Amino acid sequence: MRSDKREERPSDLKKKLFGSSGVRGLVNVDLTPSLAAKIGLAVATLAKTKRIVVARDTRISGEMLQDALVSGILAGGATVDCLGIVPTPVLAFLTKKTRASSGIMITASHNPPQYNGIKIFNGDSTAYDEKDQDRIEEIVTDNNFRFADWQNVGKARQIDVSHQYVETIKENIKLGKKWHVVIDPGCGATYKLAPSIFGSLGCKVTVLNAQPDGFFPARSPEPNAESLASLARVVKELDADVGLGYDGDGDRVAFVDEKGAFVDFDRALAGYAAFVVKKEGDGIIVTNVEASMCVEKMVKSVGGRVVRTKVGDVYVSKALQEGHGAFGGEPCGAWVHPKFHYCPDGILSSALLLKALEEEKKTLSEFTSRIPQYPTLRKNIACKNEEKDAIVEKVGERLGSVLTNLKDSSKVDGVRLTLENGWVLIRASGTEPLVRLTVEGESLKAAKRIMEESQKLAKRFIEGKQQ
Ligand code: MG
Repeated sequence: MRSDKREERPSDLKKKLFGSSGVRGLVNVDLTPSLAAKIGLAVATLAKTKRIVVARDTRISGEMLQDALVSGILAGGATVDCLGIVPTPVLAFLTKKTRASSGIMITASHNPPQYNGIKIFNGDSTAYDEKDQDRIEEIVTDNNFRFADWQNVGKARQIDVSHQYVETIKENIKLGKKWHVVIDPGCGATYKLAPSIFGSLGCKVTVLNAQPDGFFPARSPEPNAESLASLARVVKELDADVGLGYDGDGDRVAFVDEKGAFVDFDRALAGYAAFVVKKEGDGIIVTNVEASMCVEKMVKSVGGRVVRTKVGDVYVSKALQEGHGAFGGEPCGAWVHPKFHYCPDGILSSALLLKALEEEKKTLSEFTSRIPQYPTLRKNIACKNEEKDAIVEKVGERLGSVLTNLKDSSKVDGVRLTLENGWVLIRASGTEPLVRLTVEGESLKAAKRIMEESQKLAKRFIEGKQQ
């Protein structure tokens, strides 16, 4: 029996075929084998070199969707190399390394098991942006496929080249200390590679939830303090050095320190960003508009500069590529290391963090201890769908004069005002009739005041009391 409770959908789902992370939806409701075949055929229709690599995470619908997707690609005359179950960043890395024209990952990342998705990568390991996705969507919607002649249909084969990824990590990251790491793949795509990589880097490895299981029986595929409670307990009980928890497809990582405490995502990002800038001498760090101002605080203190993008790893990667940034990431544990490739990479990020700790001669709790933690407040305000963009614009324009100490404003994603003692972000929800307010303040009192003023003004505009 199929499950189609609409209210359970993640809020980032859009009505369009493609959202910010490719196609994502309920299996056999939104994402069917026939849609997967059409997407495969559309990618082959546009492919230049006609060789495409395909991989999947551990979801139980993965094989079904892969077979359909591959069938579509073959019908378009391209050949397919199937990598089996590997993390998304490994698929992206191998797309670039093996000079394929595209890479396609079947995954719904951190979403519940009844979801799946299709994420497409270019030959240079960047994910498809809106323009690329629109071209695929147009072909699918218009049925504008190019079928190969019967004698020119493609061929598929299974290959195992993930050792190329392992070798790249081993060549670039040498650890001197025998770290005791506890790894929790959460039954997802990192189940095999993460333990084997840390083992080959000389670590003592303890694993939990390392059996591939598309039902995700052990924990939610989204790593956070709650889902990683067992990992935290094991790290503490075994007196290990660090705990590493990955999301379903391994592009995100969350850390547990040697005391068994979950490390706040923003602070981990800020700490590693500052380390990169310090090491490189200077540098551009890229993060999205929602990340904490502790990133600026840490990066500026060592002479670096922060560039903020729209929410979505594809925007972070693009800004890194265009601006020659040293490092970038989002505060959900998705970190991008442009020296290697342009896909967020959980395993690579955690190996690089261990290396950073080693160079700084610090434990993880020492590494993050001096990074400030600021209070964050979030509020949603009901607003008609057809009005929300205009409301965001108007509130953004006026709010600067209501709040004191305005330092800067940006319209990268909604409107974000930087103040002397915090910041506020106003965005229209992508799917719901809501305007979202996010506030961070140097103190809880400051955050509350910024939220109060922002909320008051937004409500006045929404109720038509202010024009
Ligand atoms: Mg993911």
